[in-house]
Amino acid sequence: MPTLTSSTDRHCERSLQSPGLSTTRPDDRCPVCGDERYTPVIVQYGYRYVRCASCRAVFVSPMPAEAALAAHYQAAGYFSGDEALGYRCYADMHKALAPHFRRRLTVLGRALGQPGRLLDFGCADGFFLQCARGLGWQIAGIELARQMADHASQRLGIAIASSLEAAAERDLDAITLWEVVEHLPQPLAILERLADRLRSGGALMLSTPNAGHWQAVQEPTTWPGYRPPSHLALHTAGSLGRALAAAGLERITVRGAAPLPHLPGWLRRASAPLERSLADGQARPWPIALAAWRAIRLFGWAWHRVAHPYEEFFATLEALAFRPRGGV
Ligand SMILES: [Zn+2]
Repeated sequence: MPTLTSSTDRHCERSLQSPGLSTTRPDDRCPVCGDERYTPVIVQYGYRYVRCASCRAVFVSPMPAEAALAAHYQAAGYFSGDEALGYRCYADMHKALAPHFRRRLTVLGRALGQPGRLLDFGCADGFFLQCARGLGWQIAGIELARQMADHASQRLGIAIASSLEAAAERDLDAITLWEVVEHLPQPLAILERLADRLRSGGALMLSTPNAGHWQAVQEPTTWPGYRPPSHLALHTAGSLGRALAAAGLERITVRGAAPLPHLPGWLRRASAPLERSLADGQARPWPIALAAWRAIRLFGWAWHRVAHPYEEFFATLEALAFRPRGGV
């Protein structure tokens, strides 16, 4: 299992030495660790991202109001059409997502011994839950975006709750959040409440963009993770582990996934359309495009190890954690 802390710490030291270190307002501290010191990262669409000097999480400062965020997720183009807003077309991404979902379900099933009752928080159109049910899980979902919740409900034939408050499920075997935690203005509060919905020994598993990835650190203008107001609090491996521990979870593992290494400039430019078409699920023919991209990444991994040995090349973090036996 890859560990990401060593280069994270090196970047952290550089950040702490930066002459640009500033402090947030007292009511706008780091949503993960509460520290008020930060370094500016980038301003996107009028929103300012800053990196916490303590845990290295990156967050929007000041945080948008909750009413503005609720309106954002009800916009018709969020899941289809407006990529700057949300997703180009979530349905077209199923092909790219399916192998990740199956692998994650295998990890969860092994961790728990067998499939059980699973809640997907931020379930989008229910595609993950459909995969889970096919592997023997009993499923439930929560989705804030009404249009997507309706799609999920039709796909699965079950009611989809519009909020955590509206969901009745408790004593769950597993809770999942795929690319969701970065959307939460106060991630600790939600993680705590989700942990409380797990049975003793139940598992929480999530994925999120890696704010320690070399591109997020060195080329913030090109990193797709800085996407406000969707992405509000972006984690490094260290800050994610800290957040899960603060939520009362234990046996926490955070691993890197989706390697996106440095590439030589000419190869990066040449392969950009292929990368984009694979992410969108539009590449044709799919198996050949996928094989070509894997070969490019393998070359990039070797190049990265030689030319940029201290920089992180995993674009995604995946975490698995458990509710302590006997209660939180
Ligand atoms: Zn922090």
